[in-house]
Amino acid sequence: MSGKILYVEDNPQNMRLVRKILMAAGYDVIEATEGLMGVAVAARECPDLILMDVNLPDINGLEATARLKASPQLAWIPIIAVTANAMHGDREHCIAAGCDGYLAKPVMKNELLNTVASFLNNSAPARAGHRQS
Ligand code: MN
Repeated sequence: MSGKILYVEDNPQNMRLVRKILMAAGYDVIEATEGLMGVAVAARECPDLILMDVNLPDINGLEATARLKASPQLAWIPIIAVTANAMHGDREHCIAAGCDGYLAKPVMKNELLNTVASFLNNSAPARAGHRQS
């Protein structure tokens, strides 16, 4: 697995967990802990994919997503919303805001890897969790 993934997340435990899973699968992970920082890092680093927490300290993840999708240079980057809001219709809310995909917290390893791989067009995503490297 290869690819550069930006994770925008203000919760250190979630950040640590997701970083560990993605790095073990071979991805490069870059981080931002606030919405505006996430937009700035995305513009600077041009990641292959963005995981976007919805509840952030400054602008929320949906606003950050809208700003990224409004940029001709950045709109192509797939954005997967990551949210603890398990309310009915939340997925539709994220998609309507411009997110390309959706993951519910708590993040599950295989679901995370399968979703990321599907957006990066990698093959055999289900096997990533069983690699020994
Ligand atoms: Mn948060």
